[in-house]
Amino acid sequence: MTVTTDVRDTIAHLRVQVADLHAELPRNQLVVWTAGNVSARVPGRDLLVIKPSGVSYDKITPEAMVVTDLEGELVDGELSPSSDTAAHAYVYKHMPHVQGVVHTHSTYATAWAARGEAIPCVLTMIADEFGGEIPVGPFALIGDGSIGRGIVETLRNHRSPAVLMRNHGVFTIGSSARNAVKAAVMCEDVARTVHLSRQLGAPLPIEQHHIDSLYQRYQNVYGQEPTK
Ligand SMILES: [Zn+2]
Repeated sequence: MTVTTDVRDTIAHLRVQVADLHAELPRNQLVVWTAGNVSARVPGRDLLVIKPSGVSYDKITPEAMVVTDLEGELVDGELSPSSDTAAHAYVYKHMPHVQGVVHTHSTYATAWAARGEAIPCVLTMIADEFGGEIPVGPFALIGDGSIGRGIVETLRNHRSPAVLMRNHGVFTIGSSARNAVKAAVMCEDVARTVHLSRQLGAPLPIEQHHIDSLYQRYQNVYGQEPTK
């Protein structure tokens, strides 16, 4: 597959957007070294834009971003795609509504992942953004497609845009790459707060009907994309 001229402008725009969004990961203390990545689907095409492998955050530029197909094969760009590209590609292939994917090993959320425990819905912010607990996905090794499969199988029937992949870290999805980044930031924030709450005692659950109404209200009133 090659990049045809009709999508060149879209891809140029997405390269800027994806490069800019990568700055949010260190800014929000979600990543160290070169870990973590953001991708965006190229709308209407079986293509995605993602960070290249092994590039430090201060060297990320729109030109450094790479374009791959939904098998994770390089289509456009100078560098090798992130080693997590296959997982991102699998999500786009099997979840057509997803426009953005983010992966981090953010500290508190990954501490929950290490214990294989879902983050319970004990804050209104969790009900708003995640619609319930933040679930745990299966243990999966990189390289055989099992990470992507684990993400899709866990999130497919769940309101949560975030999954804690067991013993690994966080993957989030969104209706845009920006929303997937937002979910990653929120996931780490609530992971930290619920962890601290646990040190003080048992956090109080929120009744399911309250979770439902918080989620509906936030997603319908506050969750809309800004109109331009
Ligand atoms: Zn990882």
